[in-house]
Amino acid sequence: MLFDTHTHLDAAEFDNDREEVIQRAVDAGVTRMINIGFNRETIPTTMDLVEKYDFMYAAVGWHPVDAITMKDGDLEWIASLCQHEKVVAIGEIGLDYHWDTSPKEIQHTVLRQQIGLAREIGMPIVIHNRDAHEDIVKILREEKASEVGGIMHSFSGSWETAEMCLDLGFHLSFGGPITFKNAKQPKEVLTKVPMDRLLIETDSPYLTPHPYRGKRNETAHVALVAEAAAALKGVSVEEIARITTQNALELFGI
Ligand SMILES: [Zn+2]
Repeated sequence: MLFDTHTHLDAAEFDNDREEVIQRAVDAGVTRMINIGFNRETIPTTMDLVEKYDFMYAAVGWHPVDAITMKDGDLEWIASLCQHEKVVAIGEIGLDYHWDTSPKEIQHTVLRQQIGLAREIGMPIVIHNRDAHEDIVKILREEKASEVGGIMHSFSGSWETAEMCLDLGFHLSFGGPITFKNAKQPKEVLTKVPMDRLLIETDSPYLTPHPYRGKRNETAHVALVAEAAAALKGVSVEEIARITTQNALELFGI
């Protein structure tokens, strides 16, 4: 039993072998996964996938990198999709200061609007945060995101930031980087995160775990993330699989 809480199986990287990739995930023991639709192109492809596979659920939202492309009516589009029984979260939303495709002020507005929507309909959020730790915590606090909670996806911050996110009621999700030899910080943070706030993910096709680093990532590799998390927590892989799956089911109300 494994739950990949963040994957992009609709991505073009899987166009030639999507069926096999999904079958490999099932064979690896993945019983649930959340596919993320994050802009005008990937929201419809995500919805197509979740309608096809009963073990697949969707998060829909507007990515900070694409914030500048959000138009009138898009927030309403997301709101209407949230009525779909397979949509369990709004995301990924957040801040990305690494790529400067969308100005910070626009990213902030789009994030605040979507937290507002999540509170209105009572749905958890999936947060993407790249190089924006301080502002993300500030906005989550100001917009009262603790009312809905959610996931800090592929958490890469310090323990200090982690504590602030935990205080806001968020879960922390870890992926491939915890399998890297040189990734000290995410490993340290993972060892300190309370078991009932821990989640695992792949973010495939990105962030491929060791020993496949440099190749395309896929959801079956969440088993490698579970192994690394189990070693860091000093518990069995079965225990990590059970607890992280339970945490995700409860958070998403599945
Ligand atoms: Zn993602």
